[in-house]
Amino acid sequence: MASRFSCEIDPDSGFCHGVVRAVNKAEEFLAGGGRLFSLGAMVHNTAEIDRLARQGLSIIDLDGLALLGPGDTVLIRAHGEPPATYAAAQACGVQLIDCTCPVVLKLQRDIAAAWRSVSVSGGSVVIFGKKGHAEVNGLVGQTGGRAIVIQTLSEIDTIDFSHHIELFSQTTSDPGEYEALKAACLARSADITIHDTICRQVSRRHSKLAAFAAGHDVILFVSGRESSNGKVLFELCRAHNPRTYWVDSPESVQPEWLAEAADGQNGGSDAPLRIGITGATSTPRWQLEAVADSISGKVCFLV
Ligand code: SF4
Repeated sequence: MASRFSCEIDPDSGFCHGVVRAVNKAEEFLAGGGRLFSLGAMVHNTAEIDRLARQGLSIIDLDGLALLGPGDTVLIRAHGEPPATYAAAQACGVQLIDCTCPVVLKLQRDIAAAWRSVSVSGGSVVIFGKKGHAEVNGLVGQTGGRAIVIQTLSEIDTIDFSHHIELFSQTTSDPGEYEALKAACLARSADITIHDTICRQVSRRHSKLAAFAAGHDVILFVSGRESSNGKVLFELCRAHNPRTYWVDSPESVQPEWLAEAADGQNGGSDAPLRIGITGATSTPRWQLEAVADSISGKVCFLV
């Protein structure tokens, strides 16, 4: 059994640029003492939402927006919103802090342009992403709700290949799954324009995360349960390291996970147990550090 351990936080983990930018803008505003309403949760992470709520951030939905008026300030999160939301905000006279990630904003504009181009000739805009996800709703809104959303390769038959297709992806989709969809579409039609719209920060993360997971004896994956990016990255880690465990707080780390990893390590070698801590693009760095800080109290079996 291992007699020591090392604990490494994935250097590429923590919020993506889009979320950092949105959180910074929210905190800047809240520091001035004003009330701020976020249209939907800024990040899919309960601990971070609670932290921002203590500073004065309230989460509302579209029904809540309709109850606000001039003098109220509403934050549009990094996922972006469809045009209908901006119209609703204008109608009730609220001030907007628009934190749509620049990468998402460009994707929205590209989809709007593609739709203007193909809709006149019966073509389709197809978006590979999670149905009902806030970013996808914002993207579909650029086509007046007429884009086709494909969540899995098995839904490919819902695409009309008899006319031109403009294919896009949600920024946080799994790069491998998007590659498979692209290949399957090209096998059915050559009249298709493929747009590589997975966020570079996400696609780079996938390859680096696979190496990080494989390079540790046990992986503690820190994320809110509601994060779709968290689910994708967790499965990626588990594919490269079966000893990958989902953690949503320091308290949820089970000492037996570490004990089992130590028992199974290299057939019982004396090498240090290598614990890797990583998370989703919605997992704040402080939460990863809190999990790391809690580890030393949970490895007392290492003697
Ligand atoms: S994952 Fe990429 S595109 Fe999405 S909010 Fe973050 S930085 Fe922007």
